[in-house]
Amino acid sequence: MKKNVRLKVKPSYVKGLKAGYPLITEDALQNISHVKEEGTIIELFDDKSVFLGKGYYGKQNKGRGWVLTQNPQEMIDQNFFEKKIKKAIDHREALYNDYETTAFRVFNGEGDGIGGLTIDHYNGYYVLTWYSEGIYTFKNEVIESLKKIVKVKGLYEKKRFAVKGKYIDDDDFVEGEQAPSPLLVRENGIHFAVYLNDGAMVGVFLDQRDVRKTIRDRYANGKTVLNTFSYTGAFSVAAALGGATKTTSVDLANRSRSKTQEQFSVNGLDYEEHDIIVEDVFHYFKYAVRKELLFDLVILDPPSFARSKKHTFSAGKDYPELLAQAIQITEEDGVIVASSNCSTFGMRKFKDFIASAFKQTGGAYEILEEFKLPTDFKTHKEFKEGNYLKVVFIKKLS
Ligand code: SAH
Repeated sequence: MKKNVRLKVKPSYVKGLKAGYPLITEDALQNISHVKEEGTIIELFDDKSVFLGKGYYGKQNKGRGWVLTQNPQEMIDQNFFEKKIKKAIDHREALYNDYETTAFRVFNGEGDGIGGLTIDHYNGYYVLTWYSEGIYTFKNEVIESLKKIVKVKGLYEKKRFAVKGKYIDDDDFVEGEQAPSPLLVRENGIHFAVYLNDGAMVGVFLDQRDVRKTIRDRYANGKTVLNTFSYTGAFSVAAALGGATKTTSVDLANRSRSKTQEQFSVNGLDYEEHDIIVEDVFHYFKYAVRKELLFDLVILDPPSFARSKKHTFSAGKDYPELLAQAIQITEEDGVIVASSNCSTFGMRKFKDFIASAFKQTGGAYEILEEFKLPTDFKTHKEFKEGNYLKVVFIKKLS
């Protein structure tokens, strides 16, 4: 049996928790030192001992745990996990039935009622990501629940927490059959080679599915495409399948070259017809301006924060400058796909960044369409930070 600890919430945090804010922050608690063990069930009360919520203690990057229920009678047991996971899987029924798509998110943390845990599905295999040691103490309950509800070919896990200050990146395989390496998955008919046991990232970011499809179906045909921060080239492949005359992928990481070649190959595309450049994007922009290169479609999908030898990029500060450089090498009437997964600002501020970049370069633009997280990345309405993705298709007007 897990221990229950009663904790008092500071008055200024009571309203938020009552409204359903799911993250338990250190600041919100009056006596967090009473909790010693990860995974402890904590019950939150206000100064008048009114019950506010029940959750678990788990030290994360941000936060000290998550509220799991606002019902004082509800137990955090096997049945609880089963109920949440069943509901999440029902919500993805259309994706399970979609023959063209075999990779998607099945459980999205607080959006599906359990902060600190995500579950992704890759063609019959499942990857659990644990964001704290606290949620990891419920490993058995989670795995048993999942196996009761769906057929699990093989199971992997990513531990995104440090024990005694160290991340453990041992074998990620948990049980069942080992997945082939690479494992081939489909997404709207696009093939991707993924590696379930090769570090924190498997090779494709599932949250961009709708954006890749849109690029392939409506923006790529007959166009020259520059894909910056290209990682394994997923956007380039989508564009090439959509009829792009040529794609250019730019990423700093050495391994991006072979990874991108592989993604082209598994789609029956000849990577020799495309450029894959291992270089700092900011350096490439300077080169492109000097050579007067222009592209019809420019994709910007930088990490929220990155440090290279010469550059520190922080999306919240430097995105306008990044856009300004991209605008310079975009054809007139060309399109920029600006994307950010930075959780510290929302769509409104992102659009301000776009406005200020065009102000700086002195041109006019039109916003063609925008995307947020796809439906399988379910979000919690009280937890705005969880709704991190912003993608805007911008036309550079002549
Ligand atoms: N757009 C990709 C995901 C990008 S992940 C996709 O859709 O799959 C971020 C990538 O940015 C990483 O591959 C990292 O190597 C790269 N990166 C970070 N800083 C960079 C820089 N200054 N120049 C080029 N690439 C960079």
